[in-house]
Amino acid sequence: MKNCIFCKILTGEIPSEKIYEDQKTYVFLDASPIAIGHMLVIPKKHYETMDEMDPKTANAVIKTTQKIGRTILKFNKGYNVNQNNKPTAGQVVPHVHYHLIPRNNNDDLKFSWKNIKFDKKYFQETKTKIQKFLK
Ligand code: AMP
Ligand code: ZN
Repeated sequence: MKNCIFCKILTGEIPSEKIYEDQKTYVFLDASPIAIGHMLVIPKKHYETMDEMDPKTANAVIKTTQKIGRTILKFNKGYNVNQNNKPTAGQVVPHVHYHLIPRNNNDDLKFSWKNIKFDKKYFQETKTKIQKFLK
């Protein structure tokens, strides 16, 4: 895809710190890490959001994400997988990517997550609304 930073990384037009690649996926260090070893897993085929991926690509991306997750756990206590879709959700690069963020005790990383209190009506109405759109 023309003008896509990550497609340019895949062709070598833009340099990257490659960690791993296979036929369908590529893994490299995030250039502005929020933790030591912060990596990005991407499909070699260009898709904007994760819901668009064809099943074979989606399987390959999950398989690689698991492989990298297992690797992270060999020398870290845990990891987060973060995946943003569309600018509203914080997606800056419009090529599907999974952030893998190694975690350790007292690493001072905080993801803001504020729970909202709702009554029973919310759960009923929301369930009905979402299911109406399910295909
Ligand atoms: P997101 O906000 O989910 O779209 O995240 C995009 C990520 O891509 C950010 O964490 C950036 O630091 C990272 N990034 C952008 N350009 C590059 C690059 N050329 N090499 C490595 N990481 C990059
Ligand atoms: Zn791309």
